[in-house]
This record gives sequence, structure tokens and C-alpha cells, in this order.
Amino acid sequence: MWGLPFKKMVKSPAEIELIKESSLLVSKTLAELANHIKPGVTPLFLDKLAEEFIRDHGAVPGFKGYGDFPNTLCFSINSAVVHGIPNNTVVKEDDVLSIDCGTIMNEFYGDQAFTFAMAGVEMEVIKLLQVTRKSLSLGIEQAIVGKRVGDIGFAIQQYCEKEHGYGVVRELVGHGLGKSLHEDPEVPNYGRKGQGTKLLENMVLAIEPMINLGTRDVVSAQDGWTILTKDGKVSAHYEHDIVVKKEKAEILTDFEVIDQAIKKNNYLQEIVE
Ligand code: MG
Ligand code: MG
Repeated sequence: MWGLPFKKMVKSPAEIELIKESSLLVSKTLAELANHIKPGVTPLFLDKLAEEFIRDHGAVPGFKGYGDFPNTLCFSINSAVVHGIPNNTVVKEDDVLSIDCGTIMNEFYGDQAFTFAMAGVEMEVIKLLQVTRKSLSLGIEQAIVGKRVGDIGFAIQQYCEKEHGYGVVRELVGHGLGKSLHEDPEVPNYGRKGQGTKLLENMVLAIEPMINLGTRDVVSAQDGWTILTKDGKVSAHYEHDIVVKKEKAEILTDFEVIDQAIKKNNYLQEIVE
């Protein structure tokens, strides 16, 4: 018999449809931002653009006011891992921009992150982004009925840490998604095969590897929000919302619209897995 917590983690097809609508709006919002990223633009400008775009589509920003977070986007540049607060610093031609965005539509959250590379970013860092994005796909491959949360984390950790020598952030994890932004189960980007919560059909998970070029250690910035790499090296973050299925997870968010926008923007580099 399922305990109550398990029941809550499994969504109905109708609920999944609503989460999908919210998730796709986040993808479209990130694609809209990709149309406007260029040297000289400010995170705060992009934040306002995102908020308008979300509200114009009948939703509200999911992060604004969440735990007193002040903005629509978490905007984390270079050595910032996650939770950066958009400000008036200008974006430079060799910056790495990790943008995390959430929406609430019909009471359900969507949540997606993408790390953008400006045209001047060097190959060593592009490689980090490619590997991080690929690790997300490897994690999603494990999100099927019969596997456990630890299988997802193991796949991500193995690829990033063992195969590429990058730092896998331990302090921040993926999560269940629904009427709350962060639901059970927690989905760490590290773990052991066959360990942790059992994956059941129609669980909705946000899987989000946060991978550092250097060591895995992170510190909190003075602003109380931004998480930075301790060694000051670059970090990458990609996130999809997915539904656990029997054969293959269904991905609710969409990178394709973002990739298309990047292709048309000469100030940005494509990130292929
Ligand atoms: Mg997110
Ligand atoms: Mg998330």
C-alpha cells in the first residue's frame, strides 16, 4: 500500500496537463530572453521582460515573492551557481548566464533553468555547459518506473564527476513539482544506484544538475540569496520538468525553442550535448 506522501507525489493526467502548460510557458519565456541577450543588456532589464511576457500569457512569475525572493528570474553570472538577484550589472561578451525561471498558471508551477554562453566564452567553459546539459539527459533516462531517485543522481554524478572531473554541487537539489514549487521527493545530482525514493508513474520531477568547473564547494553571498562557487570558477545549470513513465520519461519543458532562439542570436553560442 502507498503511504499518503507517495499518493501526493503522483499526479493525475489532468494535473500533468496543467503543469505542462506552465512548464512550456517557462521555456517560451527563456526563448524570449534569448532573443534579447547581448553585451550591455542588464539582468534587471531581462527580468522585467520575463515578468511582462509571463503576465501577458495569463500566468504569474513563480519565484517573485517565493521566500521573499524579489524577482522573476534567478540570474546567476559566471561563478554564481544559482539564486542570483537580477541587478544593473551589464552583461559582457564573455559571460556565462545561468537563468532560472518559474511560472504559476492554473495553480501549478513550471520551473526551468538554462545556462547561456556569450560569444566570447572559451571552449573549456563551453565543454562544462555541454557536459552539464548532457548529464541532465542522462538523469532523465533514469526517470522511469522501477528506478529510484538515487539512479538519477548516480547517472549525473558519474558522468560529471567521474568522467569529466567537474564538481557536483551537493547543497542544492532537484525536486517534485506541482501546486508547490518544491515538493517531495528531493532529487539530488549525486547518489547511489537503487537507493532512495522509488519512482512511480506520473510523478512530476524537476531535475536540475548544478555543475562546477572546479570543486563542488559553494558559499552564500552577502545578499543572502546568491550561491557562489567557493573557488570562483564558473558553474552551469540546466533544468527540465519531467513526468516519470514506464518506458521513457515525458519532458514537459522544452529546450528546442531556446536553441532556435540562440541560433538566431550571434551574441550567443549554441550548446550541444
Ligand atoms: Mg529552477
Ligand atoms: Mg527547480
